[in-house]
Amino acid sequence: MSEIPVPAARVPVQAEADVLVCGGGSAGVACAVAAARRGARVILLERWPMLGGMATAGLVTCFHRRDREKIVIRGLVEETVRRLDARGWIRLHVRNASVHETEWFEPEGMKVVWDAMLREAGVRIFCGLAAGEPILDGKRVRGVLADTKRGRRAFRATFVVDATGDGDVAAKAGLPFEYGRPTDGRVQGMTLMYALCGVDNERRRALPREERDAIHAEMLALARDGKLPTFNPAFNPCGAPNRWWLNMCAVAGSPLDEEELTRQTALARERVWQFVEYFRRRVPGYEQATVEQTAPSIGLRESRRFKGLCTLTREMVLGALKQPDALGHGVWMIDIHDPLGTGHTTWSDRDERAMVPPGQSYHIPLRMCLNDRIPNLSVVGRPASATHEAHASVRVMSHTMTMAQGVGTALALALESGRDPAQTDLPRLHRALKEDGVHLEDVP
Ligand SMILES: Cc1cc2nc3c(=O)[nH]c(=O)nc-3n(C[C@H](O)[C@H](O)[C@H](O)COP(=O)(O)OP(=O)(O)OC[C@H]3O[C@@H](n4cnc5c(N)ncnc54)[C@H](O)[C@@H]3O)c2cc1C
Repeated sequence: MSEIPVPAARVPVQAEADVLVCGGGSAGVACAVAAARRGARVILLERWPMLGGMATAGLVTCFHRRDREKIVIRGLVEETVRRLDARGWIRLHVRNASVHETEWFEPEGMKVVWDAMLREAGVRIFCGLAAGEPILDGKRVRGVLADTKRGRRAFRATFVVDATGDGDVAAKAGLPFEYGRPTDGRVQGMTLMYALCGVDNERRRALPREERDAIHAEMLALARDGKLPTFNPAFNPCGAPNRWWLNMCAVAGSPLDEEELTRQTALARERVWQFVEYFRRRVPGYEQATVEQTAPSIGLRESRRFKGLCTLTREMVLGALKQPDALGHGVWMIDIHDPLGTGHTTWSDRDERAMVPPGQSYHIPLRMCLNDRIPNLSVVGRPASATHEAHASVRVMSHTMTMAQGVGTALALALESGRDPAQTDLPRLHRALKEDGVHLEDVP
Protein backbone atom coordinates (compact mmCIF):
# COMPACT_ATOMS: atom_id res chain seq x y z
CA MET A 1 0.00 0.00 0.00
CA SER A 2 1.45 3.45 -0.88
CA GLU A 3 1.75 6.08 1.86
CA ILE A 4 1.54 9.88 2.17
CA PRO A 5 2.84 12.13 4.99
CA VAL A 6 0.22 13.72 7.27
CA PRO A 7 1.31 17.05 8.76
CA ALA A 8 1.50 17.22 12.56
CA ALA A 9 -1.19 19.51 13.97
CA ARG A 10 -2.38 20.97 17.26
CA VAL A 11 -5.86 19.66 18.00
CA PRO A 12 -8.44 21.41 20.20
CA VAL A 13 -9.70 19.42 23.20
CA GLN A 14 -13.45 18.95 22.79
CA ALA A 15 -14.18 17.29 26.13
CA GLU A 16 -12.45 15.74 29.15
CA ALA A 17 -13.67 13.12 31.57
CA ASP A 18 -12.61 10.43 34.02
CA VAL A 19 -13.78 7.62 31.74
CA LEU A 20 -14.09 7.71 27.95
CA VAL A 21 -16.15 4.87 26.49
CA CYS A 22 -15.72 4.32 22.74
CA GLY A 23 -18.77 2.52 21.34
CA GLY A 24 -22.38 2.61 22.51
CA GLY A 25 -23.53 -0.99 22.07
CA SER A 26 -24.75 -3.19 24.94
CA ALA A 27 -21.25 -3.25 26.45
CA GLY A 28 -20.50 0.46 26.05
CA VAL A 29 -23.84 1.51 27.53
CA ALA A 30 -23.50 -0.77 30.57
CA CYS A 31 -19.90 0.33 31.20
CA ALA A 32 -20.75 4.03 30.95
CA VAL A 33 -23.87 3.81 33.16
CA ALA A 34 -22.07 1.77 35.84
CA ALA A 35 -19.06 4.13 36.01
CA ALA A 36 -21.21 7.28 36.02
CA ARG A 37 -23.60 6.03 38.71
CA ARG A 38 -20.58 5.50 40.95
CA GLY A 39 -19.46 9.08 40.53
CA ALA A 40 -17.16 9.07 37.48
CA ARG A 41 -17.46 11.79 34.84
CA VAL A 42 -18.12 9.77 31.68
CA ILE A 43 -18.12 10.51 27.94
CA LEU A 44 -19.48 8.02 25.42
CA LEU A 45 -18.67 8.20 21.69
CA GLU A 46 -20.87 6.25 19.28
CA ARG A 47 -20.30 6.30 15.53
CA TRP A 48 -23.95 5.61 14.61
CA PRO A 49 -26.89 8.00 15.17
CA MET A 50 -28.38 5.74 17.85
CA LEU A 51 -27.23 3.72 20.84
CA GLY A 52 -27.47 -0.05 21.09
CA GLY A 53 -25.04 -1.49 18.55
CA MET A 54 -26.25 -4.93 17.46
CA ALA A 55 -29.25 -4.67 19.84
CA THR A 56 -30.74 -1.87 17.74
CA ALA A 57 -28.83 -1.40 14.49
CA GLY A 58 -28.46 -5.16 14.09
CA LEU A 59 -32.09 -6.00 15.11
CA VAL A 60 -30.72 -8.56 17.58
CA THR A 61 -33.44 -8.66 20.19
CA CYS A 62 -33.21 -11.58 22.62
CA PHE A 63 -31.72 -11.73 26.13
CA HIS A 64 -30.36 -14.94 27.65
CA ARG A 65 -30.33 -14.75 31.46
CA ARG A 66 -31.20 -18.28 32.63
CA ASP A 67 -28.89 -21.20 33.45
CA ARG A 68 -31.74 -23.48 32.25
CA GLU A 69 -33.13 -23.63 35.79
CA LYS A 70 -33.07 -20.08 37.18
CA ILE A 71 -32.12 -16.53 36.26
CA VAL A 72 -28.48 -15.75 37.10
CA ILE A 73 -27.97 -12.54 35.13
CA ARG A 74 -29.39 -9.42 36.72
CA GLY A 75 -27.83 -5.98 37.35
CA LEU A 76 -28.17 -3.52 34.45
CA VAL A 77 -29.58 -6.25 32.19
CA GLU A 78 -32.49 -6.76 34.55
CA GLU A 79 -33.01 -3.01 34.93
CA THR A 80 -33.10 -2.70 31.14
CA VAL A 81 -35.71 -5.47 30.97
CA ARG A 82 -37.83 -3.79 33.68
CA ARG A 83 -37.74 -0.45 31.91
CA LEU A 84 -38.58 -1.98 28.52
CA ASP A 85 -41.43 -3.96 30.03
CA ALA A 86 -42.88 -0.89 31.73
CA ARG A 87 -43.27 0.76 28.30
CA GLY A 88 -44.65 -2.36 26.58
CA TRP A 89 -41.38 -2.98 24.70
CA ILE A 90 -40.86 -6.59 25.75
CA ARG A 91 -42.55 -8.61 23.03
CA LEU A 92 -42.19 -12.00 24.63
CA HIS A 93 -41.26 -13.27 28.10
CA VAL A 94 -39.97 -16.79 27.64
CA ARG A 95 -41.40 -18.62 30.67
CA ASN A 96 -39.87 -22.01 29.89
CA ALA A 97 -37.30 -22.42 32.68
CA SER A 98 -35.32 -25.06 30.79
CA VAL A 99 -34.06 -22.64 28.11
CA HIS A 100 -31.56 -19.77 28.34
CA GLU A 101 -33.78 -17.29 26.49
CA THR A 102 -35.71 -14.94 28.78
CA GLU A 103 -37.00 -11.88 26.87
CA TRP A 104 -37.46 -10.60 23.31
CA PHE A 105 -37.48 -6.82 23.11
CA GLU A 106 -38.38 -4.06 20.62
CA PRO A 107 -35.21 -2.47 19.23
CA GLU A 108 -36.92 0.93 18.94
CA GLY A 109 -37.71 0.78 22.66
CA MET A 110 -34.13 -0.17 23.45
CA LYS A 111 -32.87 3.04 21.82
CA VAL A 112 -35.07 5.06 24.18
CA VAL A 113 -34.33 3.06 27.33
CA TRP A 114 -30.54 3.05 27.01
CA ASP A 115 -30.50 6.74 26.10
CA ALA A 116 -32.52 7.50 29.27
CA MET A 117 -30.28 5.36 31.48
CA LEU A 118 -27.16 7.13 30.21
CA ARG A 119 -28.63 10.62 30.53
CA GLU A 120 -30.00 10.00 34.03
CA ALA A 121 -26.54 8.81 35.05
CA GLY A 122 -25.05 12.06 33.70
CA VAL A 123 -23.08 10.54 30.81
CA ARG A 124 -22.17 12.98 28.02
CA ILE A 125 -23.21 11.22 24.81
CA PHE A 126 -21.81 12.03 21.37
CA CYS A 127 -23.60 10.02 18.67
CA GLY A 128 -22.55 10.14 15.04
CA LEU A 129 -18.90 10.40 16.11
CA ALA A 130 -16.38 7.62 15.60
CA ALA A 131 -13.41 7.33 17.94
CA GLY A 132 -10.24 7.55 15.87
CA GLU A 133 -6.58 7.37 16.82
CA PRO A 134 -5.79 6.82 20.50
CA ILE A 135 -3.59 9.50 22.10
CA LEU A 136 -0.66 7.52 23.48
CA ASP A 137 1.82 8.70 26.06
CA GLY A 138 4.36 5.99 26.87
CA LYS A 139 2.50 3.11 28.51
CA ARG A 140 -0.72 5.11 28.96
CA VAL A 141 -3.55 6.26 26.74
CA ARG A 142 -4.73 9.85 27.32
CA GLY A 143 -7.85 9.79 25.14
CA VAL A 144 -8.73 9.55 21.45
CA LEU A 145 -8.95 11.81 18.43
CA ALA A 146 -12.20 12.10 16.51
CA ASP A 147 -13.04 13.84 13.23
CA THR A 148 -16.04 16.03 14.03
CA LYS A 149 -17.95 18.23 11.58
CA ARG A 150 -15.83 21.12 12.85
CA GLY A 151 -12.52 19.36 12.30
CA ARG A 152 -10.35 17.04 14.36
CA ARG A 153 -10.88 17.16 18.14
CA ALA A 154 -9.37 15.43 21.16
CA PHE A 155 -11.41 13.65 23.84
CA ARG A 156 -9.25 13.20 26.94
CA ALA A 157 -9.75 10.89 29.90
CA THR A 158 -8.01 9.12 32.76
CA PHE A 159 -9.37 5.75 31.63
CA VAL A 160 -10.32 4.71 28.09
CA VAL A 161 -12.62 1.79 27.30
CA ASP A 162 -12.79 0.14 23.90
CA ALA A 163 -16.40 -1.01 23.43
CA THR A 164 -16.34 -0.77 19.63
CA GLY A 165 -17.21 -4.43 19.07
CA ASP A 166 -14.21 -4.76 16.73
CA GLY A 167 -11.59 -3.39 19.15
CA ASP A 168 -10.63 -0.52 16.81
CA VAL A 169 -9.11 1.69 19.51
CA ALA A 170 -7.15 -1.11 21.20
CA ALA A 171 -5.79 -2.27 17.83
CA LYS A 172 -4.64 1.25 16.92
CA ALA A 173 -3.02 1.46 20.37
CA GLY A 174 -0.99 -1.62 19.43
CA LEU A 175 -2.54 -4.21 21.76
CA PRO A 176 -2.03 -7.74 20.42
CA PHE A 177 -5.10 -9.67 19.29
CA GLU A 178 -6.21 -12.91 17.70
CA TYR A 179 -8.54 -13.18 14.75
CA GLY A 180 -10.68 -16.07 13.57
CA ARG A 181 -10.70 -19.78 14.29
CA PRO A 182 -7.41 -21.64 14.56
CA THR A 183 -8.00 -23.85 11.47
CA ASP A 184 -8.36 -21.16 8.79
CA GLY A 185 -8.46 -17.75 10.49
CA ARG A 186 -12.12 -17.16 9.62
CA VAL A 187 -14.51 -15.45 12.04
CA GLN A 188 -18.12 -16.49 12.68
CA GLY A 189 -20.60 -15.90 9.86
CA MET A 190 -22.56 -12.65 9.67
CA THR A 191 -26.35 -12.33 9.36
CA LEU A 192 -28.54 -9.58 8.01
CA MET A 193 -31.56 -9.57 10.32
CA TYR A 194 -34.84 -8.31 8.89
CA ALA A 195 -38.33 -7.53 10.09
CA LEU A 196 -41.18 -9.07 8.17
CA CYS A 197 -44.63 -7.47 8.21
CA GLY A 198 -47.96 -7.96 6.44
CA VAL A 199 -48.26 -11.59 7.57
CA ASP A 200 -51.84 -12.76 8.18
CA ASN A 201 -51.38 -14.28 11.62
CA GLU A 202 -54.67 -16.21 11.66
CA ARG A 203 -54.01 -17.96 8.37
CA ARG A 204 -50.44 -18.63 9.39
CA ARG A 205 -51.62 -20.24 12.63
CA ALA A 206 -54.22 -22.33 10.76
CA LEU A 207 -51.51 -23.92 8.61
CA PRO A 208 -51.38 -27.65 9.49
CA ARG A 209 -48.09 -28.85 10.94
CA GLU A 210 -47.51 -31.28 8.04
CA GLU A 211 -47.85 -28.47 5.50
CA ARG A 212 -45.40 -26.27 7.41
CA ASP A 213 -42.94 -29.13 7.53
CA ALA A 214 -43.41 -29.81 3.82
CA ILE A 215 -42.63 -26.17 2.97
CA HIS A 216 -39.59 -26.31 5.23
CA ALA A 217 -38.36 -29.47 3.48
CA GLU A 218 -38.95 -27.83 0.09
CA MET A 219 -36.94 -24.77 1.15
CA LEU A 220 -34.05 -26.95 2.28
CA ALA A 221 -34.11 -28.82 -1.06
CA LEU A 222 -34.18 -25.55 -3.03
CA ALA A 223 -31.26 -24.24 -0.95
CA ARG A 224 -29.34 -27.44 -1.67
CA ASP A 225 -29.95 -26.94 -5.41
CA GLY A 226 -28.85 -23.29 -5.26
CA LYS A 227 -32.38 -22.00 -5.97
CA LEU A 228 -32.72 -20.34 -2.54
CA PRO A 229 -29.96 -19.02 -0.30
CA THR A 230 -28.83 -21.45 2.40
CA PHE A 231 -30.25 -20.94 5.90
CA ASN A 232 -30.15 -22.45 9.36
CA PRO A 233 -31.95 -25.81 8.93
CA ALA A 234 -33.26 -25.70 12.51
CA PHE A 235 -35.29 -22.65 11.63
CA ASN A 236 -38.78 -22.98 10.11
CA PRO A 237 -39.79 -19.52 8.88
CA CYS A 238 -43.48 -20.46 8.45
CA GLY A 239 -43.74 -20.11 12.23
CA ALA A 240 -42.74 -16.43 12.31
CA PRO A 241 -45.62 -14.13 13.27
CA ASN A 242 -46.28 -10.71 11.81
CA ARG A 243 -43.62 -8.08 12.59
CA TRP A 244 -41.02 -10.56 13.76
CA TRP A 245 -37.28 -10.42 13.18
CA LEU A 246 -35.88 -13.22 11.07
CA ASN A 247 -32.42 -14.62 11.64
CA MET A 248 -31.99 -16.50 8.37
CA CYS A 249 -29.90 -14.52 5.95
CA ALA A 250 -26.26 -15.45 6.45
CA VAL A 251 -23.14 -14.29 4.63
CA ALA A 252 -19.41 -14.56 5.35
CA GLY A 253 -16.63 -12.02 5.38
CA SER A 254 -14.36 -9.81 7.41
CA PRO A 255 -15.87 -7.17 9.72
CA LEU A 256 -12.59 -5.25 9.34
CA ASP A 257 -12.81 -4.73 5.57
CA GLU A 258 -15.32 -1.96 4.75
CA GLU A 259 -15.41 -2.74 1.03
CA GLU A 260 -16.13 -6.40 1.65
CA LEU A 261 -18.76 -5.50 4.26
CA THR A 262 -20.48 -3.25 1.74
CA ARG A 263 -20.51 -6.07 -0.81
CA GLN A 264 -21.74 -8.69 1.67
CA THR A 265 -24.48 -6.40 2.98
CA ALA A 266 -25.77 -5.81 -0.56
CA LEU A 267 -25.69 -9.56 -1.22
CA ALA A 268 -27.59 -10.25 2.01
CA ARG A 269 -30.29 -7.66 1.14
CA GLU A 270 -30.80 -9.39 -2.20
CA ARG A 271 -31.10 -12.74 -0.38
CA VAL A 272 -33.72 -11.35 2.01
CA TRP A 273 -35.95 -10.60 -0.98
CA GLN A 274 -35.37 -14.05 -2.45
CA PHE A 275 -36.79 -15.51 0.77
CA VAL A 276 -39.69 -13.06 0.96
CA GLU A 277 -40.67 -13.64 -2.67
CA TYR A 278 -40.67 -17.38 -1.98
CA PHE A 279 -42.85 -16.93 1.16
CA ARG A 280 -45.37 -14.84 -0.83
CA ARG A 281 -45.68 -17.52 -3.49
CA ARG A 282 -45.69 -20.54 -1.25
CA VAL A 283 -46.82 -19.90 2.34
CA PRO A 284 -50.53 -19.32 3.07
CA GLY A 285 -50.92 -16.07 5.00
CA TYR A 286 -47.72 -14.57 3.60
CA GLU A 287 -49.15 -13.35 0.25
CA GLN A 288 -48.96 -9.70 1.36
CA ALA A 289 -45.80 -10.09 3.42
CA THR A 290 -43.13 -7.49 2.90
CA VAL A 291 -39.90 -6.29 4.46
CA GLU A 292 -40.56 -3.67 7.13
CA GLN A 293 -36.82 -3.10 7.34
CA THR A 294 -33.51 -4.85 6.97
CA ALA A 295 -31.21 -4.11 9.89
CA PRO A 296 -29.32 -0.82 9.46
CA SER A 297 -26.13 -2.83 10.00
CA ILE A 298 -25.29 -6.34 9.00
CA GLY A 299 -25.05 -8.47 12.14
CA LEU A 300 -21.45 -9.01 13.23
CA ARG A 301 -20.65 -11.77 15.66
CA GLU A 302 -16.90 -11.98 15.87
CA SER A 303 -13.96 -9.77 15.07
CA ARG A 304 -10.65 -9.09 16.87
CA ARG A 305 -10.19 -10.85 20.21
CA PHE A 306 -7.60 -9.12 22.41
CA LYS A 307 -4.98 -10.85 24.48
CA GLY A 308 -5.96 -10.07 28.06
CA LEU A 309 -4.51 -10.84 31.49
CA CYS A 310 -6.79 -13.89 31.38
CA THR A 311 -8.20 -15.55 28.26
CA LEU A 312 -11.56 -17.23 28.64
CA THR A 313 -11.44 -20.77 27.23
CA ARG A 314 -13.89 -23.49 26.21
CA GLU A 315 -12.89 -25.46 29.34
CA MET A 316 -13.68 -22.51 31.62
CA VAL A 317 -17.08 -22.03 29.97
CA LEU A 318 -18.19 -25.66 29.82
CA GLY A 319 -16.59 -26.50 33.18
CA ALA A 320 -18.55 -23.61 34.78
CA LEU A 321 -15.27 -22.30 36.20
CA LYS A 322 -15.44 -19.78 39.02
CA GLN A 323 -12.99 -16.85 39.13
CA PRO A 324 -11.63 -14.71 41.99
CA ASP A 325 -12.17 -11.54 39.92
CA ALA A 326 -15.68 -12.50 38.79
CA LEU A 327 -17.87 -9.73 37.38
CA GLY A 328 -20.94 -11.92 37.04
CA HIS A 329 -22.17 -15.17 35.54
CA GLY A 330 -22.26 -16.52 31.99
CA VAL A 331 -24.64 -19.23 30.82
CA TRP A 332 -24.78 -19.31 27.03
CA MET A 333 -23.54 -22.26 25.02
CA ILE A 334 -20.66 -22.33 22.55
CA ASP A 335 -22.72 -21.05 19.66
CA ILE A 336 -20.65 -20.85 16.49
CA HIS A 337 -22.27 -19.72 13.24
CA ASP A 338 -20.55 -21.29 10.25
CA PRO A 339 -17.70 -18.97 9.21
CA LEU A 340 -18.41 -19.96 5.59
CA GLY A 341 -21.81 -18.25 5.85
CA THR A 342 -24.11 -21.24 5.28
CA GLY A 343 -26.31 -20.21 8.22
CA HIS A 344 -25.62 -23.45 10.06
CA THR A 345 -24.89 -22.97 13.76
CA THR A 346 -23.76 -25.25 16.58
CA TRP A 347 -26.91 -24.02 18.37
CA SER A 348 -29.04 -25.96 15.89
CA ASP A 349 -27.19 -29.21 16.72
CA ARG A 350 -28.61 -29.05 20.27
CA ASP A 351 -25.44 -30.81 21.39
CA GLU A 352 -25.16 -30.86 25.19
CA ARG A 353 -21.38 -31.13 24.82
CA ALA A 354 -21.35 -27.49 23.66
CA MET A 355 -23.53 -26.35 26.57
CA VAL A 356 -22.89 -25.41 30.16
CA PRO A 357 -24.70 -28.07 32.24
CA PRO A 358 -28.23 -27.11 33.36
CA GLY A 359 -28.27 -25.16 36.63
CA GLN A 360 -24.59 -24.17 36.25
CA SER A 361 -22.80 -21.05 35.06
CA TYR A 362 -19.25 -19.79 34.64
CA HIS A 363 -17.73 -16.57 35.92
CA ILE A 364 -16.77 -13.69 33.62
CA PRO A 365 -13.39 -12.48 34.93
CA LEU A 366 -12.28 -8.82 35.08
CA ARG A 367 -8.86 -9.84 33.73
CA MET A 368 -10.31 -10.75 30.33
CA CYS A 369 -10.88 -7.00 29.79
CA LEU A 370 -7.42 -5.84 30.96
CA ASN A 371 -3.99 -6.18 29.38
CA ASP A 372 -0.32 -6.03 30.36
CA ARG A 373 0.71 -3.17 28.03
CA ILE A 374 -1.61 -0.19 28.60
CA PRO A 375 -3.06 -0.43 32.12
CA ASN A 376 -5.61 2.38 31.69
CA LEU A 377 -7.12 0.92 28.49
CA SER A 378 -9.84 -1.72 28.94
CA VAL A 379 -11.61 -3.75 26.28
CA VAL A 380 -15.24 -4.78 26.89
CA GLY A 381 -17.84 -6.70 24.90
CA ARG A 382 -17.16 -8.78 21.80
CA PRO A 383 -13.39 -8.15 21.58
CA ALA A 384 -12.56 -9.06 25.20
CA SER A 385 -10.02 -11.83 25.67
CA ALA A 386 -11.44 -15.26 24.77
CA THR A 387 -10.66 -18.12 22.44
CA HIS A 388 -12.77 -18.49 19.29
CA GLU A 389 -14.92 -21.05 21.13
CA ALA A 390 -15.31 -19.27 24.48
CA HIS A 391 -16.07 -16.03 22.65
CA ALA A 392 -19.00 -17.85 21.04
CA SER A 393 -20.57 -18.00 24.50
CA VAL A 394 -19.56 -14.74 26.16
CA ARG A 395 -20.46 -12.58 23.13
CA VAL A 396 -24.21 -12.48 23.86
CA MET A 397 -25.63 -9.20 25.15
CA SER A 398 -26.58 -10.27 28.67
CA HIS A 399 -22.94 -11.35 29.07
CA THR A 400 -21.33 -8.31 27.42
CA MET A 401 -23.44 -6.09 29.68
CA THR A 402 -22.50 -8.03 32.80
CA MET A 403 -18.82 -7.83 31.86
CA ALA A 404 -19.04 -4.12 31.07
CA GLN A 405 -21.02 -3.21 34.19
CA GLY A 406 -18.23 -4.88 36.16
CA VAL A 407 -15.50 -2.96 34.30
CA GLY A 408 -17.34 0.37 34.67
CA THR A 409 -17.66 -0.27 38.39
CA ALA A 410 -13.99 -1.25 38.67
CA LEU A 411 -13.00 1.98 36.89
CA ALA A 412 -15.05 4.11 39.29
CA LEU A 413 -13.36 2.35 42.24
CA ALA A 414 -9.96 2.81 40.57
CA LEU A 415 -10.60 6.56 40.38
CA GLU A 416 -11.42 6.62 44.11
CA SER A 417 -8.26 4.72 45.02
CA GLY A 418 -5.96 6.35 42.46
CA ARG A 419 -4.95 2.94 41.10
CA ASP A 420 -5.35 1.07 37.82
CA PRO A 421 -8.15 -1.48 37.39
CA ALA A 422 -5.70 -4.41 37.56
CA GLN A 423 -5.11 -3.44 41.22
CA THR A 424 -8.83 -3.47 42.04
CA ASP A 425 -9.73 -4.34 45.62
CA LEU A 426 -11.78 -7.39 44.63
CA PRO A 427 -13.88 -7.78 47.83
CA ARG A 428 -14.78 -4.07 47.49
CA LEU A 429 -15.68 -4.58 43.81
CA HIS A 430 -17.86 -7.57 44.63
CA ARG A 431 -19.68 -5.63 47.37
CA ALA A 432 -20.29 -2.76 44.93
CA LEU A 433 -21.61 -5.07 42.20
CA LYS A 434 -23.99 -6.78 44.62
CA GLU A 435 -25.21 -3.39 45.89
CA ASP A 436 -25.94 -2.58 42.24
CA GLY A 437 -28.06 -5.68 41.76
CA VAL A 438 -25.55 -7.98 40.05
CA HIS A 439 -26.06 -11.69 40.71
CA LEU A 440 -22.70 -12.96 41.98
CA GLU A 441 -22.28 -16.28 43.77
CA ASP A 442 -19.54 -18.83 44.50
CA VAL A 443 -16.61 -16.41 44.18
CA PRO A 444 -13.54 -18.43 45.29
C1 LIG B 1 -27.44 -11.92 13.81
C2 LIG B 1 -27.00 -11.96 15.23
C3 LIG B 1 -27.80 -12.57 16.16
C4 LIG B 1 -27.44 -12.56 17.50
N1 LIG B 1 -28.29 -13.10 18.41
C5 LIG B 1 -28.11 -12.80 19.71
C6 LIG B 1 -29.13 -13.05 20.65
O1 LIG B 1 -30.17 -13.61 20.33
N2 LIG B 1 -28.92 -12.65 21.93
C7 LIG B 1 -27.77 -12.03 22.30
O2 LIG B 1 -27.66 -11.63 23.47
N3 LIG B 1 -26.77 -11.81 21.44
C8 LIG B 1 -26.92 -12.15 20.15
N4 LIG B 1 -25.94 -11.86 19.26
C9 LIG B 1 -24.64 -11.32 19.72
C10 LIG B 1 -24.73 -9.88 20.17
O3 LIG B 1 -25.64 -9.15 19.43
C11 LIG B 1 -23.39 -9.15 20.13
O4 LIG B 1 -22.32 -10.01 20.37
C12 LIG B 1 -23.41 -8.05 21.16
O5 LIG B 1 -24.42 -7.13 20.80
C13 LIG B 1 -22.06 -7.38 21.27
O6 LIG B 1 -22.18 -6.19 22.02
P1 LIG B 1 -21.04 -5.11 21.98
O7 LIG B 1 -21.52 -3.92 22.72
O8 LIG B 1 -19.75 -5.72 22.38
O9 LIG B 1 -20.86 -4.78 20.42
P2 LIG B 1 -21.86 -4.08 19.41
O10 LIG B 1 -23.26 -4.36 19.73
O11 LIG B 1 -21.35 -4.43 18.07
O12 LIG B 1 -21.60 -2.52 19.69
C14 LIG B 1 -20.44 -1.85 19.29
C15 LIG B 1 -20.78 -0.39 19.12
O13 LIG B 1 -19.59 0.36 18.90
C16 LIG B 1 -19.82 1.27 17.85
N5 LIG B 1 -18.52 1.59 17.25
C17 LIG B 1 -17.76 0.82 16.45
N6 LIG B 1 -16.62 1.45 16.14
C18 LIG B 1 -16.67 2.66 16.75
C19 LIG B 1 -15.79 3.76 16.83
N7 LIG B 1 -14.60 3.74 16.22
N8 LIG B 1 -16.16 4.83 17.56
C20 LIG B 1 -17.36 4.87 18.19
N9 LIG B 1 -18.25 3.85 18.14
C21 LIG B 1 -17.88 2.77 17.45
C22 LIG B 1 -20.76 0.55 16.93
O14 LIG B 1 -21.41 1.46 16.08
C23 LIG B 1 -21.69 -0.14 17.92
O15 LIG B 1 -22.76 0.67 18.31
C24 LIG B 1 -26.23 -11.94 17.90
C25 LIG B 1 -25.40 -11.35 16.95
C26 LIG B 1 -25.77 -11.36 15.63
C27 LIG B 1 -24.89 -10.67 14.65
